[in-house]
Amino acid sequence: MRYYDRLIFEMSNPGRIGYHFKKKDMPDVTLPKQLLRAKKAELPEVSEFGVVRHYTNVSQKNFGVETGFYPLGSCTMKYNPKINDELATLPGFANIHPLQPQHTVQGLLKIYHETARMLSELSGLAAYSLNPFAGAHGELAGLMIIKAYHEKNKDTKRTKIIVPDSAHGTNPASATVCGFETVEIKSNLDGTINMDALREVLGDDIAGLMLTNPNTAGVFEKDILEISRLVHEAGGLLYYDGANLNALLGEAKPGDMGFNITHINLHKTFSTPHGGGGPGSGPVGVCERLVEFLPDPVVKKEGDVYVLDNASDSIGSLGTFFGNASVVIRAYVYLMTFGKEHIGKIGPYAVLNANYIQESLKDLYELPIDGHCMHEFVFDGLKDKSTGVKTLDIAKRLLDYGFHAPTVYFPLIFSQSMMIEPTEVESKETLNDFIDIMRKVAKEAIDDPETLKTAPHHTIVRRLDEAKAARQPILKFKDLQNE
Ligand SMILES: *Cc1c(COP(=O)(O)O)cnc(C)c1O
Repeated sequence: MRYYDRLIFEMSNPGRIGYHFKKKDMPDVTLPKQLLRAKKAELPEVSEFGVVRHYTNVSQKNFGVETGFYPLGSCTMKYNPKINDELATLPGFANIHPLQPQHTVQGLLKIYHETARMLSELSGLAAYSLNPFAGAHGELAGLMIIKAYHEKNKDTKRTKIIVPDSAHGTNPASATVCGFETVEIKSNLDGTINMDALREVLGDDIAGLMLTNPNTAGVFEKDILEISRLVHEAGGLLYYDGANLNALLGEAKPGDMGFNITHINLHKTFSTPHGGGGPGSGPVGVCERLVEFLPDPVVKKEGDVYVLDNASDSIGSLGTFFGNASVVIRAYVYLMTFGKEHIGKIGPYAVLNANYIQESLKDLYELPIDGHCMHEFVFDGLKDKSTGVKTLDIAKRLLDYGFHAPTVYFPLIFSQSMMIEPTEVESKETLNDFIDIMRKVAKEAIDDPETLKTAPHHTIVRRLDEAKAARQPILKFKDLQNE
């Protein structure tokens, strides 16, 4: 192990001091006795240079979208322009207090108002609330709106939400949290809705259908208009999981397809670094007849003044104050950077890049859904099944070559799923590098399968017991010492 791979506690040397304060510059304060420590805090003692090296080394242990290609399907890991971060952290935004009088936060309210309008324009829905904190949170908001709508119509026997089996796990989870019963319907081989299965479950107990389009296999739901007609005819509402909106930007609008409600993952489609649980923002948008159910607050414009408003039948607020304002600002900057003239290129380039990789690798990797894909696609492991090399082995081997793995073992409809999404921001050179490495790995699977099965070999930690790491994580230095 290299010296700086040690924990900062292991580098500690009692008495070593990494800071210097002039006593005379320090304010004289006396803290109440009950707030004082009984004994000294156990802190590592290292030099300033030691601290700098420690944190710099720690920052380089992780893989991020800024260290290499990150083709994680369903997550839309794209370049996050630094100017977005810079603008979001301007003191005028960063220091806003949530209870400040509205006339002092007109700039932020304007950004909220305009972002919501741009999302309306791009998705074909009437209005948005930017309150929810993430996609899943937006789903919950949307389902609460569906529930409130049916309750207002005294249509309370509608207790079921239809979710196709190709859906993201958050869909059935959100439905359950909202008190609905999930009805799972089997998808066709390509993850699209099986129309017979849909017809079978539609009835007067159905509150709505949740759908991702293009779906998680990267296939556009070509029967969407018929699906929409059937669900509406049965009295249900149509929920659009907007995590894959990236594929449609500039080409199609969920509102035009008949969707009544959507969430949009700002942190996926419109930049903001994400992963590890945040930060995110999942604005929820609705069609005209559901506008009065939107969560609080919504921002309205009265003359030249922006005001916070509450919808008349609002489901209430789902998060503190404005929601994740800094993510909204980043999305606003991203949208404004492209502008109306260029925003429409995002979808087509994302789709082109995905098709380029798919076509360049499908002779070596199993492509269960052949044909034109949208912004992502799924391989079902290697074509040559004789080597015993699994998707997990390929994912681990890619790390050795400096590439992040695609999403693996999702969607669940194939046993060796490997879901690849390059996004619109990658250059042809990067795509070619990735294709070369994927081809090299496929060759290694035949020539030297053991190397793949024991990969990664060049990362700081080798193959982990992922179940144990998730269930019994070691989060404290003391526990590591006891291992
Ligand atoms: C990411 C994702 C979600 C959940 O969004 P979060 O912002 O992570 O809560 C839902 N559905 C699909 C298809 C997704 O890819």
